[in-house]
Amino acid sequence: MSTADLNGTNYQAAGVIEHWTRDWELGETWLRCRHCVGFQPFAQAAGGESFTAHTPECPGISRGEHFPLHTLRAALAALGPVKP
Ligand SMILES: [Zn+2]
Repeated sequence: MSTADLNGTNYQAAGVIEHWTRDWELGETWLRCRHCVGFQPFAQAAGGESFTAHTPECPGISRGEHFPLHTLRAALAALGPVKP
């Protein structure tokens, strides 16, 4: 892998997505915290509601990520075209 690859937009976006998947699970119509199994329907997340479904002892609370679906969307939007 070259230095250009490491600094590339797609590499950075892939890193954000990889990190995101450590904490979140994406279902067909929902989003779930992998640490406490807190659950949020897409309709709420896409409607701008923050994720408040963590259990009180969940480590996800201290990370302070309130809009995980928006984080994923921004990372996916940053990806450039992929050549097969
Ligand atoms: Zn949680």
